[in-house]
Amino acid sequence: MYRVWERVLGIVEGQVGKTNSETWLKPIRPLGLQDDAFHLEVPSALFKDWLLSNLVGPLENAFTEVLGQPTHLVLHVQEKPQGELFPKEEREQTAQGKGRGKKDGLIQNYTFSSFVVGGGNQFAHAAAKAVSKHPGKSYNPLFIYGGVGLGKTHLINAIGHETAGKQGRDNIVYLSSESFTNELIAHLRKNRMTEFKNRFRRADVLILDDVQFLSGRERTQEEFFHTFNSLHESSKQIILTSDKFPNEIGRLEERLRNRFECGLIADIQPPDLETRVAILQKKSRARRIPLPDDVALFIASHVTSNVRELEGGLTRLGALAALNQADITVNFARQVLKNLVTDQEKKVSIETIQRTVSKYFGVSVADINSKKRTKMVSFPRQVGMFLCRKLAGASYPMIGMRFGGKDHTTVLHACHAIEKRFKRDEELRDIINRVEIMIYE
Ligand code: ADP
Ligand code: MG
Repeated sequence: MYRVWERVLGIVEGQVGKTNSETWLKPIRPLGLQDDAFHLEVPSALFKDWLLSNLVGPLENAFTEVLGQPTHLVLHVQEKPQGELFPKEEREQTAQGKGRGKKDGLIQNYTFSSFVVGGGNQFAHAAAKAVSKHPGKSYNPLFIYGGVGLGKTHLINAIGHETAGKQGRDNIVYLSSESFTNELIAHLRKNRMTEFKNRFRRADVLILDDVQFLSGRERTQEEFFHTFNSLHESSKQIILTSDKFPNEIGRLEERLRNRFECGLIADIQPPDLETRVAILQKKSRARRIPLPDDVALFIASHVTSNVRELEGGLTRLGALAALNQADITVNFARQVLKNLVTDQEKKVSIETIQRTVSKYFGVSVADINSKKRTKMVSFPRQVGMFLCRKLAGASYPMIGMRFGGKDHTTVLHACHAIEKRFKRDEELRDIINRVEIMIYE
């Protein structure tokens, strides 16, 4: 079977080039042939999506050629413990970190230098820095909470890296609450609880990710409570994350909740536009994806929910550009990120646009819909019409009607005027991007 796969790889690599082969063929695991279907395992849903729309044809042809019979492909997504977009990378990093003793389990690339500080995470970042400087002294525990994909895991790994090796801080232990539970169960089963207790109570810094998973797990909570106390009493740093505030975590023992709240609680909020752009620029440089500023702004304005998705968009864009040997432009990005972009765009109504435009410019909706022609009103009106066309897909007559019964030619002029300026006027682009972001928020 592996010989078949190797020959197929050879053929397809010849067609798509070495780089694409590394990115898109290497990670595939052949499972085997069953009747006329060859089964392959791929690392993620995104990966599968991408293969389906880009490489299934060449792969099936190659299989048909090698096997001498028409063959089709069945793609299976590999089951994975966590993470969506970079599961393989993350797992490798975790595996590398393991066994090194000193930095038990830390994810390699999640450092302070690869973390962008900006609106939303400033406070958590400052707290993380302070803790790295004086572990066990200033804020103990440090409890970071925030929604998914906002950088909690990144930040606490950064603390681990920064602290490791500092005097008396040799033993950094990082793990998820899920793993903590699993290890506990394994040790209980093998009757090796002393080993378990020692492992965690000897830590100089204990980092436990996603403590919301402790919810309802009484035995784990009890064990962690004792670990916590033992470390806290000897001034060892404890760092915790959660997607909820301590008192919002259900089925959590009161005494443990109290412990979580007795240090510093720092939240992470979704990043603002500037931070999202900066993150994209940093990640694209690290991955050598040439990302022009206007494309970064485009992605950052449309992918607003979390950083993990932002990164996913960038990965997809980089990979497709490499495969198609295309330049990364706003139009290319719009096509590639179609799903992300149109999913959001569908929901927008003309009212929402009018309301947001009026809020952004500080004029009333009534004024926007009036016949007034002062610049203070007419510019917001033009922006509003332009956005109704762009985001709501409304027709010129429809927009005219909803903007206080104006003629469709007025709308046409307004849209053209904005479009024309849009190309050369950076300030206008920025305004429109900001209004768009407000619309989607
Ligand atoms: P969480 O643990 O909050 O769900 P992660 O720490 O796993 O989120 O972050 C998701 C992805 O986003 C990671 O790849 C991380 O590197 C990246 N990320 C999040 N915030 C930032 C930031 N401020 N700067 C750089 N990368 C970030
Ligand atoms: Mg996390």
